[in-house]
Amino acid sequence: MRTKQFKSESKKLMDMMINSIYTHKEIFLRELISNASDALDKLYFRSLTDNSVGIAPDDFEIRLEINKDARTLKIIDNGCGMTEDELDKNLGTIAKSGSLAFKQENEKKENVDIIGQFGVGFYSAFMVCNQVTVRTRKFGSDTAYQWQSSGVDGYTITECDKESAGTEVIMHLKDDTEDEHYSEFLDEWKLKELVTKYSDYIRFPIRMAVTKTRKKEGSPD
Ligand code: ADP
Repeated sequence: MRTKQFKSESKKLMDMMINSIYTHKEIFLRELISNASDALDKLYFRSLTDNSVGIAPDDFEIRLEINKDARTLKIIDNGCGMTEDELDKNLGTIAKSGSLAFKQENEKKENVDIIGQFGVGFYSAFMVCNQVTVRTRKFGSDTAYQWQSSGVDGYTITECDKESAGTEVIMHLKDDTEDEHYSEFLDEWKLKELVTKYSDYIRFPIRMAVTKTRKKEGSPD
């Protein structure tokens, strides 16, 4: 499997995200929910004039799935999805070169809330993840693709199975450190609070599923 390289600007931005000491890392959720909402919008508008879409207006949704054992948070949408080419272009290159330039200019000024003000899009996931997997199927296509990256070293794109159109972003959260408690993004209540805080303007329902693991009787703690 060939590892593709990020464009150099993307690499810089991602490096900044990975090593970010930004205190409101939670904004990744705002960025990813906003991407999911844009993708839903695209298919929703098409569904108004194209019966073949076959999704009722109320069935467009964003789902969050937590798996505490696997330390994953999934953000799933049944929006327009991406082709292999789009996946490569959209996630391998960063469109926000403006915010990158601004960030670099202001790097030394401590209190500039560039991430909060401008957003950094998809790559903000790397503030809290050591690996991100995106599985997507473009509406109208039979083939689905998986994009995966563990950081600046590049990314892979492979074919995968996905039952229906849309995108799921699987975030593998970093281990907790003394200063950072990434596990909070696996906490149902914390996520509810953040979704409420950051998704006021989202007009699609955001639902959450939690995988609960229960200790078997007699098994060690
Ligand atoms: P922005 O959203 O500002 O364009 P991002 O870096 O967040 O920048 O995302 C880059 C692109 O990747 C988006 O413009 C969109 O085309 C694509 N993308 C990201 N997430 C999704 C998704 N859930 N469904 C479909 N396309 C997506």
